Amino acid sequence: MSIGDPTIFGNLPPPSGVQEEIARLLSEGKSNGYAHSMGVGAAREAVAASLSSPEFVVRADDVAITSGCSHAIMMAMDAVCREQGSVLVPSPGFSLYRTLCAYLNLKCTLYPLDASRNWEVNMDALEQVVTPDTRCIIVNNPSNPCGVSYSKEHLLQLLTFAEKHKLPIISDEVYAHMSFPGHEFHSMASLSTTVPILVCGGIAKRYMVPGWRVGWVVHCDRRNVFRNSGTLEALQRVSQTILGACTLMQAVVPYLLQRTPQSYHDRNMRVLMENAVAFVDGVKTAPGITAVMPSAAMYAMVKIEMEKFPKFPSEVEFAQGLLEEQQVFVLPGSCFTMPNSFRVVLCAPADVLADAAARIVKFCLQHYK
Ligand SMILES: *Cc1c(COP(=O)(O)O)cnc(C)c1O
Repeated sequence: MSIGDPTIFGNLPPPSGVQEEIARLLSEGKSNGYAHSMGVGAAREAVAASLSSPEFVVRADDVAITSGCSHAIMMAMDAVCREQGSVLVPSPGFSLYRTLCAYLNLKCTLYPLDASRNWEVNMDALEQVVTPDTRCIIVNNPSNPCGVSYSKEHLLQLLTFAEKHKLPIISDEVYAHMSFPGHEFHSMASLSTTVPILVCGGIAKRYMVPGWRVGWVVHCDRRNVFRNSGTLEALQRVSQTILGACTLMQAVVPYLLQRTPQSYHDRNMRVLMENAVAFVDGVKTAPGITAVMPSAAMYAMVKIEMEKFPKFPSEVEFAQGLLEEQQVFVLPGSCFTMPNSFRVVLCAPADVLADAAARIVKFCLQHYK
């Protein structure tokens, strides 16, 4: 329950037929060479079509295929932040954003999410951390580690903020469409005609194949801000640094995006929701901790009242104790800049998660003072 890899337990397989498609592409022998550094044409077209709607058309030229969504985020940050400055990063948030800030010599400025309000951005706090040096804001929807997807209204609030401060948005949508039944998902880019947005996505989570390493960055820029400011050119330049993502795996993208039946996604989201319920219900009787029920993706955050567990100086030792005494492996909240909490991955089968929850209850009962 520590690493966000849905392949570990074998209960969330990739769409059926895709292995045969890879075998076919391989024996066809047309994917052995270099492709355009911005990606294989058919893959770019498939991604563009998947993001397009009647009101908002994405062209294949707007898409760069990358080596996973993490590479897409790196390219986006590199292209947008060509001058030194700071990047607004969600807290709690995916640790890669901080890693990339350090690598690209950018200042990482955290903005808080509100656990009591479905992990929405605290807009007042966000206003307080923006400065003339701010280069962009990273939004992660649906979110890792919070496991929520934002309402249209909240995304519009964020767009208003970006517009006001003239900030481009990097929208990490690697969990696009992975909201639980009854919950909505909106792509940031579909909601604005003015704010320049780089949408980062990939196949890792939605198709349960993180090892295949294919992602994309899409510039959604209806006012040509990126084009006129050199960001688009910078994006093309950074795409050339690795001579493009794996050509064979890029060739599989049209099959995944166009031939996967909706029932595949529906089943996965039903399973992940049932897993979330099994876990959250399972830890309800544990004293001193509170799990926040997620609405999307494959994670839940659990708050710890650390003062009730005097044996443990912080959630790091708490998580260590849980691993040593109960063999339950969770990540301490400090991995996501959220002390006094831990994150669980909800991909294990429901009975395994219920068993883990029972062990967490036992652990809390033992150490609660
Ligand atoms: C898993 C994850 C990624 C990375 O995706 P890859 O395609 O495996 O590189 C990016 N952002 C978030 C929030 C993630 O959880």
